[in-house]
Amino acid sequence: MNPHVPMLDLNDGRQVPQLGFGVWQIDDAAASAAVATALECGYRAIDTAAIYGNERGVGEGISRSGLPRDAVHLTTKLWNSEQGFDSTLRAFDESLRKLGTEYVDLYLIHWPVPAKDRYVDSWKALEQLRGEGRARSIGVSNFQPAHIERLLAETGTAPAVNQIELHPDFAQRELVAFNARHGIVSEAWSPLGQGGELLRHPLLVQLAGKHGKSAAQIALRWHVQRGHMVIPKSQTPSRIRENIAVFDFQLDEADMHALAALDGDHRIGPHPDQLS
Ligand code: NAD
Repeated sequence: MNPHVPMLDLNDGRQVPQLGFGVWQIDDAAASAAVATALECGYRAIDTAAIYGNERGVGEGISRSGLPRDAVHLTTKLWNSEQGFDSTLRAFDESLRKLGTEYVDLYLIHWPVPAKDRYVDSWKALEQLRGEGRARSIGVSNFQPAHIERLLAETGTAPAVNQIELHPDFAQRELVAFNARHGIVSEAWSPLGQGGELLRHPLLVQLAGKHGKSAAQIALRWHVQRGHMVIPKSQTPSRIRENIAVFDFQLDEADMHALAALDGDHRIGPHPDQLS
């Protein structure tokens, strides 16, 4: 495992590298190249999903790296249309086939889709997959407290991870605190605000100057110091390298305090209660 990236403890006794690599919106060929580059740069966790349509490319990128399978923490996700007990098991098999692997390190329910009301059945399928050792850890994504409370009430199994939209201007403090109370790691998606306005914000630019880092590195360091797992995406080799170089400096208390003031209702993606 890369010595620079700390490991986070999960509530199932396993661990996950705190910083990994996301591959949304890249096709198979680009994913294969980007994953190989990321692994060369020292990333040891990859986040994909069935709906990204690039599981084959991700699997290829891991093979190309020459690393043993157990050196890479691999996450994929169950898509909304496949929710339900049997359909989840089938979708999982299909993901493994495309990834070319016998197991994933983390399998997530991508969205709760409360209108369909199948996430508890899907969760029971994930529990089975974990029991079989084919999904080493299981978790959720975009779950609100009510959805997690229902999983706890009906199955007694807490997710290891809740992957949610998180960036300095959308800090979701209440949800992150809820996750923490249940021993659930908060994993940040779109940690750079998808590379938009956030990275041009004067505060990030100022802190970048102060620390001799980029605005993206300031945002990623904020995640690290907030205790999130974080999965920035890039297809550009220099940025892939830049985004993992965030373990050789620290934001001080005043920096963190100033960044806290950026928090607002800057959600980019859909609200989890609404996506169907
Ligand atoms: P992100 O916040 O990681 O931003 C990525 C974009 O930021 C890049 O496409 C690029 O334009 C820019 N960028 C990257 N590095 C940069 C740098 N060093 N300097 C300047 N600009 C830079 O956005 P994302 O891809 O949406 O999120 C990361 C990952 O989270 C995804 O790839 C995916 O794996 C996951 N994700 C999950 C969900 C979910 O519902 N669970 C939703 C969205 C994303």
